[in-house]
Amino acid sequence: HHAKRRDNSVCPYTQTMRHALERRQWMTERLHQAILGHRLELYFQPQFSLADKTLTGAEALCRWYDPEWGWVSPGEFIPLAEERGLIRMLGDWVLEEAASQLGVWQAKHTPLPGKLSINISAQQFADPQLTAHVAKLTTGVPPGAIALELTESDFMRDPDQAVTITHSMRRAGYALFIDDFGTGYSSLSYLRRFAADALKIDISFVRDMLDNHHDRAIVQTIIAMADTLDMKTLAEGVESPAQADLLAKMGCSEAQGYWFGHPLPADEFAATWLMP
Ligand code: C2E
Ligand code: MG
Ligand code: MG
Ligand code: MG
Repeated sequence: HHAKRRDNSVCPYTQTMRHALERRQWMTERLHQAILGHRLELYFQPQFSLADKTLTGAEALCRWYDPEWGWVSPGEFIPLAEERGLIRMLGDWVLEEAASQLGVWQAKHTPLPGKLSINISAQQFADPQLTAHVAKLTTGVPPGAIALELTESDFMRDPDQAVTITHSMRRAGYALFIDDFGTGYSSLSYLRRFAADALKIDISFVRDMLDNHHDRAIVQTIIAMADTLDMKTLAEGVESPAQADLLAKMGCSEAQGYWFGHPLPADEFAATWLMP
C-alpha cells in the first residue's frame, strides 16, 4: 500500500518541513505499536431523545494516549492512519472493542439502550464484504444494537458503492448514520438511494445557530430533508440548553454534545448513564 504523496511542491525543503515529516513518520510507528499492543481506548458519548431526554444510544470515540506526547487528537491520528494504511487495523480493533464492551454491559445487567454508533472510514467502507466483516468482528452482538457512522463526504466518494453497501448493511439489520451532514455535497437523489437511518447535523451549523440565521436555516433544511426521506436527525455538538430547546422546537429528534454529556471511558460512562 502506498501513501498518497504530494511531492510536486515547489517550496524549498526546509528544516521545519523535515521535522514535521519526521514527527509524522515517528507518529505512524508509535500508532502502529499502540494498535498492535491494544493501547488505544474507546470513550463513549451519550445520545438523547430531544422530546423526552431519554438515552437513545452512544457513540464510540477512539482515544490514544502516548506516554511521551500525551493525548493525541483523533483529528490528527485518524487521518494519519488513513494515509499510512493503518485504518483497517484500527477500525477492526474499534469494532471488536465496541462489541466486547456491549457484552460487558450486558453481563453486568447495565445494557446500553438503543444503539452504539461506531465510526467507519472510507477505506473500510470500500470493502465489498464489509457487512460480513462487521458481523464477524462483532459476533454475539445483535446487528440492531449497532449503528455505523460514515461521513457525508465519504459516502459521496463512491456513491454507487455506498448505495450497494448501505442496502446490504440494512438487510443485515445494522443502522447507518450519515455523519457531519451538511459539509459534503450529496444530492437529494443520492440521499434517497442510500439506505440511511439518520442524518447527523454537523457541529459547525449547531455551534452558531442561535446567532446566525443562515446556520439556523441550514439546520431547518436538513431536518426537512430528513423528514421527507423518513430519516431521523441527530444534532452534534450541543453545548447549551438553548441550543437543545431550539433544536427540539425545530423538530430535530436526537442530540449529543457536552451539554448532555462528554465522551467518557467505559466504566465512567456506565456509572453515569447506565441503569443497573
Ligand atoms: P465525529 O464522528 O463527528 O465525532 C464527533 C466529535 O465531536 C468527537 O470528536 C466528539 O468528542 C466531539 N464532540 C462531542 N460533543 C461535542 C461538543 O459539544 N462540542 C464540541 N466542540 N465537540 C464535541 P473526537 O472524539 O475528537 O473525534 C473527531 C473525529 O475523529 C470524529 O468525528 C470521527 O470522524 C473521528 N473518529 C473518532 N473515533 C473514530 C474511530 O473509532 N474510527 C474512525 N474511523 N474515526 C473516528
Ligand atoms: Mg461520528
Ligand atoms: Mg460528526
Ligand atoms: Mg467529524
